Amino acid sequence: MSEQFVIDAIPVELRRNRRRRTRIGIDFDPAGVVVLDAPVATTFEEVEAIVAEHGRWIRYRLQKVREATAHLGRVRYQEGDIVQYLGRNLTLRVSAEDGSAVFLEGKRLCVAALDAADARSKVRGWYQSEAEVVFAAALDRWRDLPWLAGRLPAWRHSFMRTQWGSCSEMGRVSLNTHLVKTPLKLIDYVVLHELCHLEYLNHGKRFYGLMTRYLPAWRVRRKDLDKFMPLLLEE
Ligand SMILES: [Zn+2]
Repeated sequence: MSEQFVIDAIPVELRRNRRRRTRIGIDFDPAGVVVLDAPVATTFEEVEAIVAEHGRWIRYRLQKVREATAHLGRVRYQEGDIVQYLGRNLTLRVSAEDGSAVFLEGKRLCVAALDAADARSKVRGWYQSEAEVVFAAALDRWRDLPWLAGRLPAWRHSFMRTQWGSCSEMGRVSLNTHLVKTPLKLIDYVVLHELCHLEYLNHGKRFYGLMTRYLPAWRVRRKDLDKFMPLLLEE
Protein backbone atom coordinates (compact mmCIF):
# COMPACT_ATOMS: atom_id res chain seq x y z
CA MET A 1 0.00 0.00 0.00
CA SER A 2 1.46 3.34 -0.90
CA GLU A 3 -0.04 6.82 -1.01
CA GLN A 4 1.47 9.96 -2.44
CA PHE A 5 1.18 13.51 -1.14
CA VAL A 6 2.86 16.83 -1.64
CA ILE A 7 3.42 18.61 1.66
CA ASP A 8 5.01 22.10 1.62
CA ALA A 9 6.26 21.38 -1.93
CA ILE A 10 7.93 18.16 -0.72
CA PRO A 11 6.83 15.01 -2.60
CA VAL A 12 6.05 12.33 -0.02
CA GLU A 13 5.26 8.68 -0.47
CA LEU A 14 3.63 6.92 2.47
CA ARG A 15 4.18 3.18 2.64
CA ARG A 16 2.12 1.47 5.29
CA ASN A 17 4.03 -1.44 6.73
CA ARG A 18 2.39 -4.12 8.87
CA ARG A 19 5.67 -4.96 10.56
CA ARG A 20 6.16 -1.40 11.82
CA ARG A 21 4.74 -0.76 15.26
CA THR A 22 5.51 2.78 16.39
CA ARG A 23 8.19 4.90 14.70
CA ILE A 24 7.99 6.26 11.17
CA GLY A 25 11.11 5.60 9.11
CA ILE A 26 12.31 8.25 6.64
CA ASP A 27 14.13 7.34 3.44
CA PHE A 28 14.85 9.06 0.14
CA ASP A 29 14.02 7.74 -3.29
CA PRO A 30 16.57 8.47 -6.05
CA ALA A 31 13.80 10.24 -7.95
CA GLY A 32 13.70 12.87 -5.19
CA VAL A 33 10.76 11.63 -3.15
CA VAL A 34 10.61 11.27 0.63
CA VAL A 35 9.56 7.75 1.48
CA LEU A 36 7.90 7.24 4.87
CA ASP A 37 7.85 3.69 6.14
CA ALA A 38 5.02 3.86 8.63
CA PRO A 39 2.75 1.73 10.80
CA VAL A 40 -0.54 0.83 9.13
CA ALA A 41 -2.67 3.16 11.29
CA THR A 42 -0.64 6.31 10.53
CA THR A 43 -2.87 9.35 9.87
CA PHE A 44 -2.32 12.17 7.39
CA GLU A 45 -1.87 14.55 10.35
CA GLU A 46 1.00 12.40 11.63
CA VAL A 47 2.59 12.48 8.17
CA GLU A 48 2.26 16.28 8.06
CA ALA A 49 3.72 16.56 11.54
CA ILE A 50 6.77 14.47 10.75
CA VAL A 51 7.45 16.37 7.51
CA ALA A 52 7.11 19.70 9.38
CA GLU A 53 9.32 18.54 12.23
CA HIS A 54 12.14 17.31 9.96
CA GLY A 55 11.50 19.76 7.11
CA ARG A 56 14.95 21.39 6.98
CA TRP A 57 16.80 18.10 7.10
CA ILE A 58 14.43 16.52 4.52
CA ARG A 59 14.98 19.41 2.07
CA TYR A 60 18.73 19.15 2.55
CA ARG A 61 18.76 15.40 1.93
CA LEU A 62 16.46 15.69 -1.11
CA GLN A 63 18.80 18.28 -2.61
CA LYS A 64 21.74 15.87 -2.12
CA VAL A 65 19.85 12.97 -3.69
CA ARG A 66 18.93 15.11 -6.70
CA GLU A 67 22.52 16.31 -7.10
CA ALA A 68 23.80 12.74 -6.96
CA THR A 69 21.59 11.65 -9.83
CA ALA A 70 21.35 14.91 -11.81
CA HIS A 71 23.83 13.72 -14.44
CA LEU A 72 21.83 10.55 -15.11
CA GLY A 73 19.09 10.43 -17.66
CA ARG A 74 19.94 13.73 -19.33
CA VAL A 75 22.35 12.93 -22.10
CA ARG A 76 22.11 15.26 -25.09
CA TYR A 77 24.93 13.51 -26.97
CA GLN A 78 27.00 16.64 -27.25
CA GLU A 79 30.66 17.31 -26.70
CA GLY A 80 31.52 17.17 -22.98
CA ASP A 81 28.37 15.29 -21.90
CA ILE A 82 28.84 12.75 -19.13
CA VAL A 83 27.77 9.23 -20.06
CA GLN A 84 27.91 6.03 -18.01
CA TYR A 85 29.65 2.77 -18.65
CA LEU A 86 29.92 -0.03 -16.06
CA GLY A 87 29.31 2.54 -13.33
CA ARG A 88 32.05 4.89 -14.53
CA ASN A 89 31.55 8.45 -15.72
CA LEU A 90 32.89 8.95 -19.23
CA THR A 91 33.16 12.28 -21.00
CA LEU A 92 31.77 12.29 -24.51
CA ARG A 93 34.09 13.58 -27.24
CA VAL A 94 32.23 14.29 -30.45
CA SER A 95 34.35 15.04 -33.49
CA ALA A 96 32.83 16.13 -36.77
CA GLU A 97 34.96 13.84 -38.89
CA ASP A 98 32.81 11.50 -40.85
CA GLY A 99 33.38 8.00 -39.64
CA SER A 100 31.58 5.30 -37.80
CA ALA A 101 33.94 4.54 -34.94
CA VAL A 102 33.09 4.82 -31.27
CA PHE A 103 35.98 4.04 -28.98
CA LEU A 104 36.99 4.26 -25.36
CA GLU A 105 40.11 6.28 -24.58
CA GLY A 106 40.80 6.43 -20.84
CA LYS A 107 37.84 8.26 -19.35
CA ARG A 108 36.64 9.51 -22.71
CA LEU A 109 34.16 7.98 -25.07
CA CYS A 110 35.08 9.24 -28.52
CA VAL A 111 32.55 9.27 -31.31
CA ALA A 112 32.92 10.47 -34.86
CA ALA A 113 29.59 12.10 -35.58
CA LEU A 114 28.18 14.99 -37.57
CA ASP A 115 25.58 16.08 -35.01
CA ALA A 116 23.85 15.04 -31.80
CA ALA A 117 21.39 12.74 -33.56
CA ASP A 118 24.25 10.95 -35.30
CA ALA A 119 26.21 10.74 -32.04
CA ARG A 120 23.16 9.37 -30.27
CA SER A 121 22.63 6.56 -32.73
CA LYS A 122 26.33 5.65 -32.72
CA VAL A 123 26.67 5.72 -28.92
CA ARG A 124 23.53 3.62 -28.54
CA GLY A 125 24.91 1.17 -31.07
CA TRP A 126 28.12 1.02 -29.03
CA TYR A 127 26.15 0.33 -25.83
CA GLN A 128 24.31 -2.46 -27.64
CA SER A 129 27.48 -4.20 -28.77
CA GLU A 130 29.12 -3.74 -25.34
CA ALA A 131 25.98 -5.10 -23.64
CA GLU A 132 26.15 -8.19 -25.85
CA VAL A 133 29.62 -9.07 -24.54
CA VAL A 134 29.21 -7.88 -20.94
CA PHE A 135 25.85 -9.65 -20.41
CA ALA A 136 27.09 -12.89 -21.99
CA ALA A 137 30.01 -12.89 -19.52
CA ALA A 138 27.66 -12.12 -16.60
CA LEU A 139 25.37 -15.02 -17.56
CA ASP A 140 28.39 -17.25 -17.83
CA ARG A 141 29.48 -16.37 -14.28
CA TRP A 142 26.24 -17.95 -13.03
CA ARG A 143 26.49 -20.99 -15.28
CA ASP A 144 27.01 -23.37 -12.35
CA LEU A 145 23.63 -22.70 -10.71
CA PRO A 146 22.34 -26.26 -10.19
CA TRP A 147 18.89 -25.79 -11.78
CA LEU A 148 20.49 -24.63 -15.03
CA ALA A 149 22.15 -28.04 -15.39
CA GLY A 150 24.99 -26.34 -17.27
CA ARG A 151 22.70 -24.77 -19.88
CA LEU A 152 22.13 -21.05 -20.05
CA PRO A 153 18.68 -19.89 -21.16
CA ALA A 154 17.91 -18.06 -24.39
CA TRP A 155 18.33 -14.35 -23.74
CA ARG A 156 18.18 -10.99 -25.44
CA HIS A 157 18.62 -7.39 -24.51
CA SER A 158 16.88 -4.18 -25.52
CA PHE A 159 16.48 -0.62 -24.27
CA MET A 160 13.54 -0.72 -21.85
CA ARG A 161 11.97 2.08 -19.84
CA THR A 162 10.40 0.34 -16.89
CA GLN A 163 12.47 -2.68 -15.88
CA TRP A 164 16.06 -3.90 -15.67
CA GLY A 165 15.20 -7.39 -16.74
CA SER A 166 12.46 -9.96 -17.05
CA CYS A 167 11.95 -13.66 -17.53
CA SER A 168 9.11 -15.09 -19.58
CA GLU A 169 7.08 -18.16 -18.69
CA MET A 170 8.91 -19.87 -21.51
CA GLY A 171 12.15 -19.21 -19.66
CA ARG A 172 13.48 -16.54 -21.98
CA VAL A 173 15.54 -13.87 -20.21
CA SER A 174 15.40 -10.22 -21.29
CA LEU A 175 17.90 -7.70 -20.02
CA ASN A 176 17.80 -3.94 -20.31
CA THR A 177 20.62 -2.62 -22.51
CA HIS A 178 20.87 0.41 -20.15
CA LEU A 179 22.22 -2.03 -17.53
CA VAL A 180 25.61 -1.91 -19.24
CA LYS A 181 25.89 1.62 -17.82
CA THR A 182 25.83 0.27 -14.25
CA PRO A 183 28.60 -1.51 -12.27
CA LEU A 184 29.30 -5.17 -13.04
CA LYS A 185 28.15 -6.32 -9.61
CA LEU A 186 24.71 -4.82 -10.29
CA ILE A 187 24.57 -6.54 -13.67
CA ASP A 188 25.41 -9.80 -11.91
CA TYR A 189 22.61 -9.14 -9.43
CA VAL A 190 19.98 -8.57 -12.16
CA VAL A 191 21.16 -11.63 -14.08
CA LEU A 192 20.93 -13.81 -10.97
CA HIS A 193 17.43 -12.43 -10.28
CA GLU A 194 16.25 -13.44 -13.74
CA LEU A 195 17.97 -16.83 -13.56
CA CYS A 196 16.24 -17.52 -10.22
CA HIS A 197 12.94 -17.00 -12.08
CA LEU A 198 13.76 -20.09 -14.12
CA GLU A 199 13.30 -21.97 -10.84
CA TYR A 200 10.45 -19.86 -9.35
CA LEU A 201 8.51 -17.55 -11.65
CA ASN A 202 6.98 -15.45 -8.85
CA HIS A 203 8.62 -13.37 -6.12
CA GLY A 204 7.73 -15.72 -3.29
CA LYS A 205 9.66 -16.78 -0.21
CA ARG A 206 11.44 -19.57 -2.08
CA PHE A 207 12.52 -17.21 -4.82
CA TYR A 208 14.14 -14.84 -2.30
CA GLY A 209 15.58 -17.81 -0.44
CA LEU A 210 17.39 -18.75 -3.62
CA MET A 211 18.63 -15.18 -4.12
CA THR A 212 19.95 -15.13 -0.56
CA ARG A 213 21.71 -18.45 -0.97
CA TYR A 214 23.65 -17.35 -4.05
CA LEU A 215 23.95 -13.62 -3.35
CA PRO A 216 23.48 -12.87 0.37
CA ALA A 217 23.87 -9.11 -0.21
CA TRP A 218 21.20 -8.89 -2.92
CA ARG A 219 19.15 -6.32 -0.98
CA VAL A 220 22.12 -3.95 -0.94
CA ARG A 221 22.55 -4.44 -4.69
CA ARG A 222 18.87 -3.75 -5.29
CA LYS A 223 19.15 -0.51 -3.36
CA ASP A 224 22.31 0.48 -5.25
CA LEU A 225 20.54 -0.22 -8.51
CA ASP A 226 17.68 2.12 -7.53
CA LYS A 227 20.16 5.00 -7.78
CA PHE A 228 20.51 4.26 -11.47
CA MET A 229 16.79 4.43 -12.19
CA PRO A 230 17.06 7.76 -14.06
CA LEU A 231 19.05 5.84 -16.69
CA LEU A 232 15.83 4.13 -17.71
CA LEU A 233 14.61 7.46 -19.05
CA GLU A 234 17.67 8.07 -21.18
CA GLU A 235 16.83 8.30 -24.84
ZN1 LIG B 1 11.58 -10.73 -10.78
